[in-house]
Amino acid sequence: MPGSHLFVTHRLHTVARNRRISARRVVWLLAPGLLALSLAAARAPLPKGLDGMTMCLPFVGPVTRIDSTLSGRARTLAEIHERAHAAQCEEMGAVRSYAARLTVDGKLRSEADAFCAEAQWDLAIGYPRENVLARIADELETAYGWTAGRSRGEIVAAIGAACPPLSTQARAGD
Ligand SMILES: [Zn+2]
Repeated sequence: MPGSHLFVTHRLHTVARNRRISARRVVWLLAPGLLALSLAAARAPLPKGLDGMTMCLPFVGPVTRIDSTLSGRARTLAEIHERAHAAQCEEMGAVRSYAARLTVDGKLRSEADAFCAEAQWDLAIGYPRENVLARIADELETAYGWTAGRSRGEIVAAIGAACPPLSTQARAGD
């Protein structure tokens, strides 16, 4: 029947338009929240014991905070570390980088990558490779509660996999 056909067409059109409007409305509802979140992330004091942190926000991108009391080498390392996380955020986007850090292995990969950036700097100014590796393994073993289930060997292996300059092969080539 031509009448009912027209009705169906109209209904489909209405549904499609409603969906489009509600998607746009969701973005408008999210925007102030995201803005508030990025402002809060950029201004709020860091949680105790953290040298820096990077939040990866949808649409906004990375928002980094560095402990303002840090200076010298500690500050440089914190900046290098958080810059690496910011690069991960820009490369993967908020959703993928959030998902990648849901597992201990994924989080370990992400942290090993950021510590590798620190290692490059340490190695460039002449710190011995063994010391650099030991410091990073110590930090991952003690400062991060979520690695509690991992042995020292597993942590060192994860660092080596994410960071060729600190891998066993690289050391053997010295
Ligand atoms: Zn980190």
